[in-house]
Amino acid sequence: QTLQETLLAAIRTIPDYPKPGILFRDITTLLGDARAFRRSVDELVHPYAGSKIDKIAGIEARGFILGGAMAHQLSSGFVPIRKKGKLPYETVRVAYSLEYGLDEMEMHRDAVSPGERVILVDDLIATGGTAEGAVKLLRQMGAEIVAACFVIDLPDLGGRAKLEALGVSVNTLIA
Ligand code: 5GP
Repeated sequence: QTLQETLLAAIRTIPDYPKPGILFRDITTLLGDARAFRRSVDELVHPYAGSKIDKIAGIEARGFILGGAMAHQLSSGFVPIRKKGKLPYETVRVAYSLEYGLDEMEMHRDAVSPGERVILVDDLIATGGTAEGAVKLLRQMGAEIVAACFVIDLPDLGGRAKLEALGVSVNTLIA
């Protein structure tokens, strides 16, 4: 079995969630499968093994799970990017576009230092609006974004192209 087959088999697709017409990729089944979880994390970190990565920045909430495991494996720090109002200390905030409308995400203002090499991670990239917001926040803090990583890419929705147009290198496991 190829990696793609292993991972695809471990992801559950839920029709009409959270809204009619949407096919939701549910990665809780992948996370619950010891072999698929390990292989996903191994593949996500593989290109960066041996390079100095200061921080993994994970997007709430599934990016926390993958990012924590990646940080451990790369001996990097982990920093959370959260929906507004959840972080206790002073934050930097950015608005980002959702399918309908805008939302805001935040990081602690001391989470990343200028020049630090950071990998951004989330479970899935669709339109890229969420990841674009995270890229803006990290750059505002002076981070060098080494790459943005996702388990799943939905290429028809253009997210990868959007990030690449910003000069971000994108690494995904399944398209
Ligand atoms: P985007 O901003 O790229 O349009 O949407 C990506 C964000 O929405 C990510 O934070 C991702 O976790 C979430 N998301 C959108 N669609 C799905 C899906 O089908 N499955 C999962 N697991 N997350 C999704």
